[in-house]
Amino acid sequence: MTPFDQCVEQACRFAGRPHKLFINGNWVDSQSDDVIRSENPSTGDIWAEVQAASVQDVDDAANAAQACFAGSWSRVRPKERERLLRRFAELVEQNGDLICALDAHDSGRLFSGSRNQRIGDANITTLLDTIHYFAGWPTKVSGQSFALVDQPGGQQKSMQSIREPIGVVACILPWNAPALFMINKVVPALAAGCTTIVKPAEQTPVSALYLAELFREAGFPDGTVNVINGYGHVAGAALSSHPLVKKISFTGSTMVGQRISQAAAASFKRLTLELGGKTAFIVMDDADINTAAIAARLTGYGNAGQFCMCPSRLFVEESIRDKFIEKIAALSSDIVVGDALSPDTNMGPVITRKDRDRIASMVDTARQEGADVVFGGDIVDHGGNFYQPTLLHHGNTDISIARDEVFGPVLLTVPFRRDNLDRLLDQANETRFGLAASVWTSDLSTARRMTERLEAGICTVNMHPGIDPMMEFGGIKDSGIGREFGKAGMESFYESKSIHMMV
Ligand code: NAP
Ligand code: MG
Repeated sequence: MTPFDQCVEQACRFAGRPHKLFINGNWVDSQSDDVIRSENPSTGDIWAEVQAASVQDVDDAANAAQACFAGSWSRVRPKERERLLRRFAELVEQNGDLICALDAHDSGRLFSGSRNQRIGDANITTLLDTIHYFAGWPTKVSGQSFALVDQPGGQQKSMQSIREPIGVVACILPWNAPALFMINKVVPALAAGCTTIVKPAEQTPVSALYLAELFREAGFPDGTVNVINGYGHVAGAALSSHPLVKKISFTGSTMVGQRISQAAAASFKRLTLELGGKTAFIVMDDADINTAAIAARLTGYGNAGQFCMCPSRLFVEESIRDKFIEKIAALSSDIVVGDALSPDTNMGPVITRKDRDRIASMVDTARQEGADVVFGGDIVDHGGNFYQPTLLHHGNTDISIARDEVFGPVLLTVPFRRDNLDRLLDQANETRFGLAASVWTSDLSTARRMTERLEAGICTVNMHPGIDPMMEFGGIKDSGIGREFGKAGMESFYESKSIHMMV
């Protein structure tokens, strides 16, 4: 058996276990009979079945997380929190291939970038960078202290602010990168001294259960990490309104983000909402067209376009339009759509049959509205949920696919003229979303000015937006509230307390 076969077998063995809820360090039965059947989107087969939490189970998890927080966890020495996180990183590294195999089966995320790469390597490197980045923070977060201020009568006033962990954090996850999003949310929460309840997306329940075991093996005390699979309208909704939950860290759709905000408002929970996007990718005629096209191809069709910063609107200067389109077409000609576990595949499936059909219908509507199909534009009938990498072209942004998030492998090019950059910026900004935008040009002063006017939380020049744990990440407008990563992301897991003293 090759290491790859062993890894797939191990993943299937794990998935085939009976899966309960992970509350207070124990596997416990759900108090409802609900189960979630997870489909492998590459094949359409049900590959795992997990118990789904009831409202009562959510309450149990919240009580366990609160008891652990109030018990001792929030006062565990910062250096000890760092040590536990570094141990967790070692376990993630040792078991990286298995984590990637679980997500490949569950979500259709590609197992391997290429034949020559260590299996699943790219994904695991990202996870490890994130864990190590946050492991460094517990010893560095601090408040402020001012010099004593003289008061009438000879006394002095001392003023200090301190940072205290916020409490129980609910981490509500999407399906497009299950292990990655769990780590992005749980690790900084634990670094801050918070406790967590994770609710994975119903399409991808498995890797969170495995990561729960790794957190336990790393030595995190019972109650620090609780994982409850369940349905959004039951478990997700119950977490969003539970009085013991003090913060919700959510990644998902704008519509669910609005529901969570409403449910959370009654108890003024802190919120970090990372929602949808409609990235503008602007290519000027003096750009390195080859590099820009490679980036558009990689980030547009990577993860089958199910990426919140997918460059779904490619604004290309009129004079280089044909050249740029030809370049993307040439670069995309080697895309092999197929099973996420096959080493010959470089684009996997979309998450469900319903999503495949939704994407197909959006492309059909774009055609009817006058868009040209440069390549792709059809489903791929392999048994799983596959859609061709697709490039559309249209003369303007007056078609619905220029506004609505596709969350699939569909890019649209729209031409612009340099003598009317105001119009270009208006077009780039005429979307409800404000997550990311990128500009490609050798004229850096124009690029820098454009970044000031682009309505997006993340702007890049001559590179496509990615995630670096050092940098704040998040959107404006309907793309969300708050920031993950960086100092701001870390601080979002603390409350500030001001202490005034007369001394
Ligand atoms: P989704 O439908 O919004 O679901 C996300 C999570 O919310 C799931 O765990 C879901 O549970 C849960 N949920 C559903 N209804 C809920 C409710 N009433 N209360 C609380 N939780 C509830 O999103 P998705 O389809 O998984 O992910 C795709 C979306 O995520 C896209 O719009 C994409 O742009 C966005 N996204 C954004 C980023 C970013 O960083 N900005 C990154 C990746 C994806 P169920 O699974 O049971 O429904
Ligand atoms: Mg699945």
